[in-house]
Order: sequence, then C-alpha cells, then structure tokens
Amino acid sequence: MQCQRLKRLARDWYQKVKEDALAPARMMELIQRHVEHCPVCQTDPDLPEEIEKIREFIRAPQPVAASSEE
Ligand SMILES: [Zn+2]
Repeated sequence: MQCQRLKRLARDWYQKVKEDALAPARMMELIQRHVEHCPVCQTDPDLPEEIEKIREFIRAPQPVAASSEE
C-alpha cells in the first residue's frame, strides 16, 4: 500500500469496525470510494491484492455481482 492517506484511513476505519461502529462491508465501500478518487491508489499495482487481504481480515462479504437486477 503506497498511499499514506489510505493507510491512515484504513487504520481509523478498522478501529471503528472493531468497536462495532462500522460494518465491514461499509469499510470496503469507503476503501473503494477512496481508490476511485485517489491517483496514488490507482497507480499502486499491489493495492487490489492488499484490499482483498483487508476484506478477508475484517470478514467482509464479497461484493455481489449486479446481474439479477433486470
Ligand atoms: Zn489513496
């Protein structure tokens, strides 16, 4: 993880997850939203793998593929 901002944010969010103040799935949404707007994260080749590790660590569910909407 190259982005210092995301590191700090992830630590804050993880703290909230531990305190039950934030749902794991919500934390993953917040990470995704940061990455979408962050040029540092978007050029970090290892980030998708690290995000998956975070997902496993906080036991967030896999994102559901939006295929049955229609
Ligand atoms: Zn970032």
